[in-house]
Amino acid sequence: MNSELDKPITYLKGVGPKRAELYAKMGVFTVYDLLCHYPRSYIDLNTVTPLSDSVTGEQTVVKVTVVKKLPEARIRKGLSVFKAVVTDGTADLTVVIYNSSFLFAQLELDKEYYLIGRITGTLIRREMNSPLVFKADTDCKVQPVYRLTEGISQNVLRGNMKNALAACGKYIYEPLPQWVKTQYQLCAEEYAMNNIHFPKDTIGYETAKKRLVFDELLVLQLGMSLIRTKSRQYASFSLKNIPMQTFFESLPFELTACQKKAALDCAEDMQKQFPMNRLVQGDVGSGKTAVAAAAAYFACKNGCQTALMAPTEVLAAQHYDTLKGFLEPLGIKVALLTGALTQKQKNAVREGAQNGDFDVVVGTHTLFQNSTGFKKLALVITDEQHRFGVRQRATLAQKGGAPHKLVMSATPIPRTLAMMIYGDLDISVLDELPKGRQPVKTYAVTGKLRERAFAYVKKHLEQGRQGYVVCPMIDESDMELADVKSYAKKLKEGALKDYRIGLLHGKLASEKKEKIMADFKAHKLDLLVSTTVIEVGVDVPNATIMVIENADRFGLSQLHQLRGRVGRGSFESDCVLITDNVSETTVKRLKILSSTTDGFKISEEDLKLRGPGDFFGDRQHGLPKLRIADMSQDMDVLKKARHAAEMITQQDPLLENAENKGLKELVDKLFEEGLTDN
Ligand code: ADP
Ligand code: MG
Repeated sequence: MNSELDKPITYLKGVGPKRAELYAKMGVFTVYDLLCHYPRSYIDLNTVTPLSDSVTGEQTVVKVTVVKKLPEARIRKGLSVFKAVVTDGTADLTVVIYNSSFLFAQLELDKEYYLIGRITGTLIRREMNSPLVFKADTDCKVQPVYRLTEGISQNVLRGNMKNALAACGKYIYEPLPQWVKTQYQLCAEEYAMNNIHFPKDTIGYETAKKRLVFDELLVLQLGMSLIRTKSRQYASFSLKNIPMQTFFESLPFELTACQKKAALDCAEDMQKQFPMNRLVQGDVGSGKTAVAAAAAYFACKNGCQTALMAPTEVLAAQHYDTLKGFLEPLGIKVALLTGALTQKQKNAVREGAQNGDFDVVVGTHTLFQNSTGFKKLALVITDEQHRFGVRQRATLAQKGGAPHKLVMSATPIPRTLAMMIYGDLDISVLDELPKGRQPVKTYAVTGKLRERAFAYVKKHLEQGRQGYVVCPMIDESDMELADVKSYAKKLKEGALKDYRIGLLHGKLASEKKEKIMADFKAHKLDLLVSTTVIEVGVDVPNATIMVIENADRFGLSQLHQLRGRVGRGSFESDCVLITDNVSETTVKRLKILSSTTDGFKISEEDLKLRGPGDFFGDRQHGLPKLRIADMSQDMDVLKKARHAAEMITQQDPLLENAENKGLKELVDKLFEEGLTDN
């Protein structure tokens, strides 16, 4: 980049070592870092409220003249109060400042100021405590508001930012090639930086924002594209074409059209010279495992091996059962490698993988970490994408001799977003459920109806079905939350005493979990009381009722995933959401769940209601942290940035041309430092 901008922050007037330490806490080390610390919001001095119209309790901007300054009043030791009377001609206001003669001195008699603060007091005696003060003749009518850290105030940050722009503004580097700026009508970087911090007017702000959002999304896209290009520089097992019909016809059901398409996509990918990098994205119950089995079939019939990694032991065991059921009749040997095995058994599985006795080995992510011992591993399938971030994908892309990779994700996200988050992967979408599925009927009720809900559960169990009760993770200090243990006990003694109830939570040893899950699958248990450990992919078609306690504590998409544990067979299924939070947003959110079972729609609504911060925060997509772009709102820019990225990488896939040097640096920076850990 540029040496002036890369100077440590202490290079600026007014920033000494002490302040630099505070800045470091915010991740600001250099002048450039500071410039990239964009405002969180703005105060618009153009929207002034006449004092006579002001409402007590509200944050207000007023434009006033100081008419009187009262002498300092010492209330007690260490507490003095300064007061000034100001007016805007419509009414008076008393400004109250505690302990700061410095702030008070800012207000000069007979001069005009903008004050920003909360109006308190009464209609006859309005007050404003410690307002923000701007001179009326400021040429900056829109003032930035920054994310701060203790010890640095808005005013200090604004001052430092002004200095940074004044001292280094002219060194601001233009990373975009001219043709991109022209084609997408973008302003210059320097203009953008100046106006994002101190907008001249609304247009200045909007122009700047558009440019910086574009930059950020473009860089993200380019980074993904780079990962993709790099992963294609390596040869992989290039497999022969094998007709899939035999596999399709051997299944107990007819695959949906999109399942078949996804399977054939995989088969096609694996015939290429470079490794497959495919994501199968499908709503809960869309049948991703069958697609995985198809891909494994293809690899194995080519004389190669497949590894399937699941996030939990329970899931690994389930996938093992399913794959075994699908593949063993076709002469493919499947093995399970789990923590529950004895050392001797583990060694036997590893040996079998090594000498090629096993075609498919299923296990948890951890079990595979240090066992590279396969005879001819051509395909690695990973279940549950959201634990597998960009960083891991980038690392994998650097490795030679990489196997083909297939990732299964049950997190439905809007298509454009998926392209963004998984820009380095090819995507197959399963957007059609297998025939005969009945949508899960969903009801939201308050705790008053809990007994009724249990009666409902009983009705399902009486008919030979099974069910789940889900409680949020136990936090023992939080007594209001349903504690799974006492909860299960209550059920056993009360409403459901005639039924076999199992208890599943994260603190159980994995063998114990395994056992309980296996018992539930074998219908040795009727009801499973559980924390969210059942969230990921458990498949018991006979389960038809689910009750979710404290439903408001979960994200919508998560609730949808949980709900996906029922309605997997041909029986009619129900889901009861219990919540005592009847706030408007909660009701609105839960209503969405009762009204649709389309996971993509739900995630879109979730994104709208919660904002991308929350959405991406707890989903852990492992994306770089974005400073200014908001993926739920900047869709238009997102599309443009994608388009630009495609054009740039078509000409210069590794970003080696001189005109793309600036962009390459930004990509490296974003992907090096900016990745959220997961
Ligand atoms: P998910 O996509 O949530 O991982 P699974 O792969 O666990 O879904 O499949 C859910 C259930 O649907 C399983 O019992 C599976 O055998 C069944 N299934 C998958 N594909 C079909 C199909 N095309 N027709 C009928 N049932 C299917
Ligand atoms: Mg699954």
